[in-house]
Parts: sequence; C-alpha cells; structure tokens
Amino acid sequence: MKTFCGRANPTTGALEWLEEDENYDYHQEIARSRYADMLHDKDRNVKYYQGIRAAVSRVKERGEKAIVLDIGTGTGLLSMMAASAGADFCYAIEVFKPMANAAVKIVEKNGFHDKIKVINKHSTEVTVGPDGDMQCRANILVTELFDTELIGEGALPTYEHAHKYLVQEGCEAVPHRATVYVQLVESKRMWSWNKLFPVHVEAEDGEKIIVSPSEMENCPGVPSVCDIQLNQMPSSDFTVLSDVVTMFSVDFSKPVRSASTCYRVQLEPVKSGKAQVVLSWWDIDMDPSGMINCTMAPYWVKSTSAFQWRDHWMQCVYFLPNEEPVLQGEKVYLTACRDEYSLWYKLQKASGEEDNKAGACVESPVCRCQAHLLWNRPRFGQLNDQNRTRQYIKALMKVLKTDSVCLSISDGSLLPVLAHYLGAKQVQYLFLFFCSLCFSFFFRANHLEDKIKILEARPELLTSSHLEDKKISVLVGEPFFTTSLLPWHNLYFWYARTAVTSHLTSNVTVLPQSASLHMMIVEFQDLWRIRSPCGTCEGFDVQTMDDMIKNSLNFRESKEAEPHPLWEYPCKSLSDPQEVLTFDFRKTVPQHCLSSEGSVHLLRKGKSHGAVLWMEYHLVADISVSTGLMQISNEKGNCEWNPHCKQAVYFFSSVIESEPLSDLPTAFTYAINFNTKTGEIAMDFKL
Ligand code: SAH
Repeated sequence: MKTFCGRANPTTGALEWLEEDENYDYHQEIARSRYADMLHDKDRNVKYYQGIRAAVSRVKERGEKAIVLDIGTGTGLLSMMAASAGADFCYAIEVFKPMANAAVKIVEKNGFHDKIKVINKHSTEVTVGPDGDMQCRANILVTELFDTELIGEGALPTYEHAHKYLVQEGCEAVPHRATVYVQLVESKRMWSWNKLFPVHVEAEDGEKIIVSPSEMENCPGVPSVCDIQLNQMPSSDFTVLSDVVTMFSVDFSKPVRSASTCYRVQLEPVKSGKAQVVLSWWDIDMDPSGMINCTMAPYWVKSTSAFQWRDHWMQCVYFLPNEEPVLQGEKVYLTACRDEYSLWYKLQKASGEEDNKAGACVESPVCRCQAHLLWNRPRFGQLNDQNRTRQYIKALMKVLKTDSVCLSISDGSLLPVLAHYLGAKQVQYLFLFFCSLCFSFFFRANHLEDKIKILEARPELLTSSHLEDKKISVLVGEPFFTTSLLPWHNLYFWYARTAVTSHLTSNVTVLPQSASLHMMIVEFQDLWRIRSPCGTCEGFDVQTMDDMIKNSLNFRESKEAEPHPLWEYPCKSLSDPQEVLTFDFRKTVPQHCLSSEGSVHLLRKGKSHGAVLWMEYHLVADISVSTGLMQISNEKGNCEWNPHCKQAVYFFSSVIESEPLSDLPTAFTYAINFNTKTGEIAMDFKL
C-alpha cells in the first residue's frame, strides 16, 4: 500500500503530494517524535512513579484490587510502574499502532505480560464488560496526554469519556490535578511576533514610514499556541506587570467537562505599562495532597535546583488582541477562554456584568487581516528586525537607479515597498503567492496601490505582458518562502530567478547576488536528548524504543537534517564555522549537482552532538545577512543564533568526545551534496 504525503518542493516553491512507502508516515512520526525526550525527562518519570505508587497504596489500603487504566501508554512505561507498584492489572491503551506494538514487546521483555494488556485502540473505542477490552472499570486512571498548552492533545475529551465509560466513580487519578498559571507582561520582543511595527526608511527625499493598516492593528490574530523555551528569554526582554496567578485547575479524579468555557481572574498590576502578552505554563500534582508536583514554571519563578530541561513541555506565549495600558494597583480582569483543544485570553478594565457568567465568552480569535496567516510569529519578528531591514535598505540603495525596473520574488515581503521608497521610479513588481488581501490593506494604508503591481503568476508562467513589455533590471528577494522548512529551501529564489531569465536585462542586478551554506560542529547543552537513546528508564528496559527510533531515523538512505530554532537551544561551537557551498544567483541554476568535501577541525574539548547548517545571503559585495550564527560570544564557544530563523541540525548517530591536542580524534570529514534537480541537500560526516 502507498500513502500520499504533502511536501514542499524547493525547486518549485509549491506543495506537492508525493507517493511514499506505506511505512513512510510512521517512520517520520517516530523519528521526529518526543518519546525519547519524555523518557529522558527524569523529573517527570520520578514523579509519575511516586504518584502511581501512592495511588496504588491508597486503593490497596481500602482493601480493593488495583485496576489501572493507562491511556496513551506509549512505551508502556506508566503501566510498568503501576505493575511494579503492586497493581493487580493494567489496561494500557495506545492508539498509534507502531507504538502499541513496541509496548507489547517492552512489556514482555520486562516480564509484565501477565499484568499488562496492551490495547491498540483510541480510548473512546475501548469497551468494558465480560467480552470487552476491559473486564471491568478501572479504579486508577493514569495518563500523560498533555502538551505545552495542557489541553492541545485532547486530554479533556479523553478524560470526559474515560470518566463516563471506563473508570469507577471516586477513582484515583495520576496526575490528580493540573493547574494553569499566567503572568501579564510587556515585551517589545514578543509583541514583535504578533504586530508589524512601523518601518523607517531614510530615503533621499526624506524619511518615509511604512505603517501597518488598521485591519492589522485591530486583528486578534490566530489561536494557534505559541510555545517556546521561555527559559531562553532573558529577563531584560520583558517587564513583569503582574504576579503569577492561577488561571484555572482541572481535577482529573472527578468527571471532566470538555465543553467550551471561560475562566476569569482579577489582577492587580505590580507596575504600570502596556499589557501585551500573557505568559503561561502549568504544573501537575501527582497526588491529592500536592506533595508530588511537576512544574513547567520558568526560571524567574522557581529555584534553579528544581530545573529540568525538556522539550515536550515548554511554556506558552499568548498575545492579547490589543495592547492595553495598565496602571500599578489599578485592578484589571483577565479572561481565559478555551474550547476542547486551545486557549486564548482577553483583558478588561472593569468587570462587565454580561462577561461575568462563565460561558458568555469571546469567540476564538480569527485573523481578519490575513497577515497572521501569511506571516508566522518568527516571520513577524524578522520583518520587525530593524537591523536586518537596514542591511536591505543599504544594499538596495547601492543597486537601485531612478530608471530601475524592479521585480521582487519572496513571500509576503516588504522589499518592493522599500525599493519603491528608495527611488526606483518605475513600477515595482512583486510576486506574491499568497494573501493579496493582506497586501491590499497594506498598500492602501501606505498609498501604494498604483505604485506597486502584484503579479499573481508563477515565475515560469510570467509573460512580457505582465511586465508591460519592460525588462527587469533589478531582481530582488530576501529570499523567504513560507513553504521552506530547512534553510536551503529558500534557494527556491534561485529556481525562480532561472525561470524568469528571459525577462531580465542583460546586465541585470540580482540581490542577493549569492548565498552560501555554512556549517559548524556543536555540543548542545540539552537538545541532544531528543535524539539520544535511553536504554533504561526508571529501571525499565526501553531499548526496543531506542531501536525503533534508530530504525526510523535510518529509514531513508541518507539521514536528514532537521530544523530547530537554535536561539532556544544553547550550544557551544566545537569547530570554526565553515563555508561549505556557494550559490551564485547571478547565474542560472546549473544542471549538475554542487558538492563539497573537506575536513573540519575540532578546536574545543566537548561532545560532538552534530553539525549545524545555515544560509548566509550576500546582498551586494560587502553586505551580508546571516540566517544562522550571529556570533560566538566567548572563549567557551557559546553561540548566538538569529532569533527569527530555524537552522538545520544534523545529529551524529553516535556522540564523539573530543579533546584537542590529545590522542582523541580532532577532525571530521564531510561530504555535502546539493542536488539541483530536487533542491535537497544530502550530507555525510565521518571521523
Ligand atoms: N504514557 C507514555 C507515553 C505518553 S505520550 C509515557 O508517559 O511515557 C502520549 C501517547 O498517548 C501517544 O503515544 C499517543 O499516541 C497516545 N494517545 C493520545 N491520546 C490517546 C487516546 N485517547 N487513546 C489512546 N492513545 C492515545
């Protein structure tokens, strides 16, 4: 059987449906899954174990048999904990077939097959009764169905159903309760991920300001959660406006309602400022007394000794629909609304009577300006990055002449607007693949409707009539395309440039004139955990899982690099950054592949976890922008990364410890190949 998978084609910029092996989907899912990260999460595992032991004891003390329902068993870990703690029987439910199969093997290997029954079903399909999946209802409910937003993986409907059909009244639940906390902050940095700030352009005829349209200013944005490693956000990047308060709790031992609802709290600002963002995280109490607590609280809230790094649970950033000035001591009301799977917030000055009733809550935010559909949060941040804009302005000033005819190829880009203000008197053209509605608001607000023409043709379908029989003298791109996943996918600009060649003047200026791919060997502080084998977890042998992940990672002949926003994942460089490939946009894409082989020397002692790769764009001869490394900040090799871009990480299959100037290995050889037919990069590293 074959399955179809959607994938962006970097040579066409389009989303294509590829026929893949039937196992492709699940290998991808396992290779990129968070199972390894969860098994490495010592704090989580220890606390689940404590909570499960306590729950089993409470049931036993009542003289009852301990019958456990473990929804979403994954590796079977929590069921094995329960069986070890003396549970009489466990029903381990897992909907994802490859995981259910792995759980069967792991349970068997650890000697629990007579105590644990793995059921490969969604919990809502599980039946109870003499002929059912479960003989009887359980009196202990164990789950780990939470995401960073707590409810995004469907925990609420799953609990609602389980209480109705699968567990006894008064059952013990591990975790017993979850609590969501919020804190109101002002943060220019985070607000810049949600609104477009005015862009200042120093043109020859004075300063021009590009403004965002009112439609964008008043837009509530999109409801998708913004989850980040908040612990990487320095305290200088936000101002706390309120104490941390409890927004709501859910008691998992009682019937749970998943229907939409609202929660409201009163806040007394500790400082005057502009309320822009609600930071939020949760904790879970594994037992009713609250003695076994597992918290996602960020560094400024909890002591560092309680710190556990994890990537499967982070913290949330919620953007208020508008920024609201608040005064120290003057109370405000914060409302959290949720549906079954997501949360959103609003702030009010006074207690509105009609809003008092829970349930009378605001609708889930829907983006009206379309900019929030065109630009994701990092893209907003990138467009608001004044340093970056300045580089483009400087470069454009160098190449634009009063008679330039300019074509811009990038998704949702402000480059045509910059080019217009910087003096190209001829009509600017802009290729736009998405959201011309957002740009029509934008052009109207900036009186540019008749100045910039939007071409909705694909590059290969461009005709001279689109261009009113003019030839393009300046071709610009950031480049940026929404379908790009890995840094080199933005090389689609090169393919588009090749497709429009016949419309370019013979001495056309292409900006960026070229790009280069850079590479560096790094040691991660923590990110290595997500791809590292676990062996045993709390005494249980989970190697089957390690093998399964390894097998999935090797499913494609050459291992792939994966995108990660490295500003969230501290690492140190073990080698100098090295340029490995260059791409000359002044020429068309060659027929042959581009490849590079060489060696990279290790300069620092450390564990080589992998290689990081990123693109640098050379706008003009002496102006470049990096989408990766910004700088190495000290002798220890700590790296600073572009905060608006994801970099490519290629994890080595085994970690190499190095100590330069000793007998230990000090160099890697690499082979990197850019296939011009597919737009993909394959790589291989050897010691
Ligand atoms: N319990 C394991 C794994 C947790 S990951 C551990 O703690 O290590 C959550 C797992 O639950 C995933 O494997 C997912 O496929 C499964 N899952 C989520 N909702 C489910 C449901 N309603 N029924 C069955 N499985 C579910």
